[in-house]
Amino acid sequence: MNNALIQKVKKQFIEQFITEPLLIFSPGRLNLIGEHTDYNNGFVFPAAIDKGIVLAIAKSDNNYSTVRSIDMDEEFILNLKNIDRVDRNTWKNYIIGVIAELLKKGSQVDNFNCVFAGDIPLGSGLSSSAALENSLAFGCNELFNLGLSKTDLIQISQKAEHNYVGVNCGIMDQYASMFGKKDHALFLDCKILKSELVPVHLHDYEIVLVNSNVKHALAESGYNDRYAVCQKIIEHLKKPSLREVSLEELNSLKTKLEASDYKKGLYVLQENDRVVACKNALKNNDIEGVGRLLFQSHIGQSEMYKISCKELDFLVDEAKKSVSVIGARMMGGGFGGCTINLVLKTDIEDFKLKISKSYKRKFNKDCSIYNVMLGDGTSVVK
Ligand code: ADP
Ligand code: MG
Repeated sequence: MNNALIQKVKKQFIEQFITEPLLIFSPGRLNLIGEHTDYNNGFVFPAAIDKGIVLAIAKSDNNYSTVRSIDMDEEFILNLKNIDRVDRNTWKNYIIGVIAELLKKGSQVDNFNCVFAGDIPLGSGLSSSAALENSLAFGCNELFNLGLSKTDLIQISQKAEHNYVGVNCGIMDQYASMFGKKDHALFLDCKILKSELVPVHLHDYEIVLVNSNVKHALAESGYNDRYAVCQKIIEHLKKPSLREVSLEELNSLKTKLEASDYKKGLYVLQENDRVVACKNALKNNDIEGVGRLLFQSHIGQSEMYKISCKELDFLVDEAKKSVSVIGARMMGGGFGGCTINLVLKTDIEDFKLKISKSYKRKFNKDCSIYNVMLGDGTSVVK
């Protein structure tokens, strides 16, 4: 947790509202493997990271609520009796969505004041959005003693994103952010919403994230298109989700589907298998096996599911050329954001230098590089 960030949010809250707030930290997440499998009821393998959102919240005596984003330097007033989404792409819809979904569920949310800031780069595939949603849902649950479980809270966060932001996201991001555990990844079965905590020991290797600094905007991008393709396939097969579809069943549709849609369905089936294989490799200390699966996963994401972009492909190709890297792929919803790389510890500085230089040479812009630790999920800051 970033202590300076906690102090900044706390100080600004107290200056504005003259009262001690409740402080919540909610992390972003990385994903070892399993991209776009969550909304297909499949497997994913994420972990919470040590970067996230710090949110300060306290009850308000006014008949309205005030919410301020320090990072955006914007504030707005929320009227709980008349709550509606803002008609454009803004952080406010995440806030409005969480509160609206809590109220729809019958939770007794009262007026509050809230200030927040984060240290996750936005729109980079590290799920700043889920961190934000969870921080508020968790904060309200604590502040108003709503008695909701963590599972209830992540479903509220997810619905906020569906109904108020307009992204048909799966449950992975909210789940990982809420349930993460230090030095562990979560092998999550999205169909039954149960996970297994797997210790992450990478031995001679370390996770390095390289941000292409290409910002995705999931709502406008192909995320919802991919979701629609998967829906189309399962409607043809009259199945509840791609999780229940076998390769034979998918192949039976080959002549009925566009070739590009068939490939997308095939990607989801293959990626699901890779998540299981990756969990087993990690448990067996087969780190090179984990790395190979990451490379394969990227090929599927780039060539079959078509969610990569030239910058991400370049970063993965460069990583592949380096003998110090045993696995790399694009991470998150796609169309920009970060790659995840497994890099030999002793060669990390060299890797960073080389990839930064070649990226700059190729695209005439900078990438950013982060070392992240795997941390705990959403909690009250003590
Ligand atoms: P990701 O979840 O991968 O970071 P998204 O596009 O899903 O990308 O979510 C990013 C959006 O979440 C931002 O555009 C903003 O609206 C909101 N958001 C995230 N973090 C913050 C923050 N610290 N302050 C204000 N808004 C934020
Ligand atoms: Mg997001």
